[in-house]
Amino acid sequence: MRFVNADGRSGLLVDGQVFDLERASGGAISSDPMAVILERAHWDAALALHAAGVAEGGVPVGDVRLGPPVPAPRAVYGVGLNYKAHAAESGAEHPSLPAIFTKFPTSITGPHDPVILPTGTVMNDWEAELAFVLADGPRRLPAERAFDHILGYLCAQDISERMTQFAAGAQFSMGKSFDTFCPIGPAIVTLDEVPDPLRLRITCTRNGEVVQDATSDDMIFDVPRLVEFISSVCPLRAGDLCLTGTPAGVGVARKPPVFLQPGDVIETEIEGLGTLRNECVAE
Ligand code: ZN
Repeated sequence: MRFVNADGRSGLLVDGQVFDLERASGGAISSDPMAVILERAHWDAALALHAAGVAEGGVPVGDVRLGPPVPAPRAVYGVGLNYKAHAAESGAEHPSLPAIFTKFPTSITGPHDPVILPTGTVMNDWEAELAFVLADGPRRLPAERAFDHILGYLCAQDISERMTQFAAGAQFSMGKSFDTFCPIGPAIVTLDEVPDPLRLRITCTRNGEVVQDATSDDMIFDVPRLVEFISSVCPLRAGDLCLTGTPAGVGVARKPPVFLQPGDVIETEIEGLGTLRNECVAE
């Protein structure tokens, strides 16, 4: 299943067509994307509807505005230095535990929305990332059971303002939480459609030039290990997001460094999950 937020309403994406979940279910499934994610009965009803096949009432995906499929997660976890080649380009050792930070949920934006470069900043950078959406789960979940508590995968951009990020030692959560710094989407893709999350190709282009191109098998801590570690501290709650870290090729590691400018277009593509396209604009 590919779950989308279309014009602010919950929907299914099937072969380029969007089906409104409330209408297609005769009112049984909420039109509010967050309600479908939070209420397991609504999510399961959407899965059942998808499995049964929806054929009537679709509109071309190009005719709707796709919003963030998880518009209001309660927590957004990020992972620093989680790709070997990115740790190398950053001159850092491989971390011995996942280096978790938070992006505040106010930074969430849609898959095709503009990224606003804050006034007074000059070190805005891209980070293409595989992300996953959690389901409710217990504390101290072992890695072997992690996939039972994931709703699906999606593409994310962990836009990062490096001056703020490295101010006062390290301010990852602030440098990565300006408004619009977390484009996600275009859909939540359920696990059955992603056979191997460890072999996904992730690319990022800036104005058409490839700046990141890797596969997720370069990850240091894989998806189950990340879920296990998060759950050792925090409860797993439906809708919470985890961005799993970025491959090599970020702007700050280049010689000389390259940063985002107004007018730049960043495209983030993950094999089988879709593409984010975000234009940078001045605040
Ligand atoms: Zn990141």
